[in-house]
Amino acid sequence: MKNVSSVYGPVKSWRVGWSLGIDLICENSVCSFNCSYCQLGFIQDRTAVRREFIPLEKLQEDFRNSNWKKSDIVTFSGSGEPTLALNLREAIRWIQDFSGKPVLVLTNGTLLEDSEVRKDLAGAERVYIKLDAADEKTLQIVNRPVEGITLAGIVSGAEKFRAEFKNYLGLQFMILPNSRVDLEDYARIARRISPDEIQVNTPTRPYPDDWYLDSRGSHDGVDYPARPLKMVSSERIENIVKELKEKTGLENISSVYDRKP
Ligand code: SF4
Repeated sequence: MKNVSSVYGPVKSWRVGWSLGIDLICENSVCSFNCSYCQLGFIQDRTAVRREFIPLEKLQEDFRNSNWKKSDIVTFSGSGEPTLALNLREAIRWIQDFSGKPVLVLTNGTLLEDSEVRKDLAGAERVYIKLDAADEKTLQIVNRPVEGITLAGIVSGAEKFRAEFKNYLGLQFMILPNSRVDLEDYARIARRISPDEIQVNTPTRPYPDDWYLDSRGSHDGVDYPARPLKMVSSERIENIVKELKEKTGLENISSVYDRKP
């Protein structure tokens, strides 16, 4: 995987503008979840053990050779869960110092009980935590975590992170057609975490038959074997947004269907 770049895009995101992707994993798909809707397909290396996947020097070289000047924001996501990378903190700091661009990290929140992970994320301008379940059973069905990961642990870690993190924190909530959605429970958890924003999503990206490097980036014109996933209707998502606003008192809740063409 030596020739694979750890930097990809930028791709246009209607929520954050031109987003340059950072992949600190790069070698295969690695995650502590194995979400039933994952754009990377079935996760190859399912683990919650942190390690260094690529050295900082490789990221630096790839970044210098990328189209970073065109980006509005630099997003850590890539081939799995970014907080599994032990050099996340130094990677965030280097990118900010080198480029002056803000950094966003997309995380599944499973490692937030670890104070070192919370410190790693502390320097980012934005962090979005995936929170697809409001009960343990749904977590097992939708996110299929590695052994030992529980919703209680994720929420507790997210609360600790919220208390320490000074910047912008979002929650991302994925709704599948067969999801059990108890908005009372979800709103209770969201109030505990007190995010700046909630994004309500439904799968817009196909599920690949295998892991393909291209699946980490834009999904326009997918040219690898993948099957589309069923989406939840805009009407149902809009109702969820409306109810969540009422139940949480938060105004900044958006739907994936708010996207302008
Ligand atoms: S947390 Fe993200 S990368 Fe991991 S399995 Fe779920 S969707 Fe895929």
